[in-house]
Amino acid sequence: MKIRWPEPFPGAYWLDEREEQAVLDVLRRRSLFRFYGVKKPKYAAMLERTACKFYGVKHALAVNSGTGALATAMTALGIGPGCEVIIPAFFWVSTVGAAVHANAIPVLCEVDDSFCMEPQDLARKITRRTKLIVPVHMAGVPCDMKAIMAVAQKHGIPVLEDCAQANGASFQGQKLGTFGTLGIFSLQWNKNATAGEGGLIVTNDAKLYERCNAAHDLGIPWVGSAPDPAGAVTWGGGRRMSELTAAVAVQQLKKLPAIVRHMRGSKQRIKAALAGTPGLCFRRLNDAAGDAGPFLIMVLDGEAEARRVVQQMQAAGLASAVRLSDYGLHIYYNVQQLVGKVPLSPAGNPWSLPQNQQSAGNYGKGACPRSDALFARSILLPIPSRLVPRQEEAAVQIIKAAMGSAKHKPGPGPCIDGRAGT
Ligand SMILES: *Cc1c(COP(=O)(O)O)cnc(C)c1O
Repeated sequence: MKIRWPEPFPGAYWLDEREEQAVLDVLRRRSLFRFYGVKKPKYAAMLERTACKFYGVKHALAVNSGTGALATAMTALGIGPGCEVIIPAFFWVSTVGAAVHANAIPVLCEVDDSFCMEPQDLARKITRRTKLIVPVHMAGVPCDMKAIMAVAQKHGIPVLEDCAQANGASFQGQKLGTFGTLGIFSLQWNKNATAGEGGLIVTNDAKLYERCNAAHDLGIPWVGSAPDPAGAVTWGGGRRMSELTAAVAVQQLKKLPAIVRHMRGSKQRIKAALAGTPGLCFRRLNDAAGDAGPFLIMVLDGEAEARRVVQQMQAAGLASAVRLSDYGLHIYYNVQQLVGKVPLSPAGNPWSLPQNQQSAGNYGKGACPRSDALFARSILLPIPSRLVPRQEEAAVQIIKAAMGSAKHKPGPGPCIDGRAGT
């Protein structure tokens, strides 16, 4: 059996005449800049209002990217030299890069069998220099926000939720991004809702929103169509969203529940059909109902099996399947600028700064041994957003065949903690 697995660009397959109409409207109004134009611009403001309703928050700010959202949030929170920022071992390079750009020191935290920040290791990693906790809801699935917020609140540390990969996901019925002090989203091409590029910041804190507004562009906040010199003052990053982007993004945000429903449904059917396959286990879900569904993570008994199975899956057409250890800039020890502590400038910052000398950063393989072991024996398969039953069934057949050939050796059980994946 051989198939062609669609490219994993979830939002892209849902672009239609609604986005076309919105973009044409921006062009015809000759108002491509969000704060003023030939006619009054409306789409970025509309996106922010739609986001407030969708996530259930008081404030939303549209920005140019998820990376821009992280940087803006770090500035708004006052992250700088002497600050430690706790980030899980499974992330995207931007998450850790935002801390480095702020001249802070990233501190790695283990992930557990949910492939999200492990609350116990988070508690262990806290020092008096810890100034921010960044849970990353990786591959569509919510972190245990109850446990993470309990640790954060005990120490009075702010939480920035990186929801770039989990737009539309929730934990215990509450949208991700709304548990922490701030939440960020990405609208980049690979994400659940997309405008090619773009990002969002959400918060319920009016003061922080004003600081984000200032930090995202001029260093003073925009109010209506003019910068307000009486508002919060900081340094801005030139990270505005264009009206063209916003016109697409607002349509995509409206479609997001349908996109998520589709991916989650495909993933659940594939998992159900694979249930009971010897040697195969799945990532534990902190809240199955809140999973956005863009990725399936399979946990196998060992590294050798994972290598064999992923090769066979790829050869059979599941070309985007990848063993997590080989998942590029998502895995801390693959990020050479992090492992090598590459400085931002010839001065050696942030690593060389006197304020950072007490923060020992170790980023080489082995820094998070439990995560390393999990990455070695796990395979990630993107779940495209418009699968039909025939494609789902083919994927199941391919995975079953690959598992069957993997000479399964019964071990202590593939899932750590002895829990079966849900
Ligand atoms: C994509 C992504 C980002 C960055 O978003 P961009 O819009 O590409 O800048 C940040 N964090 C995570 C976890 C991501 O997956």
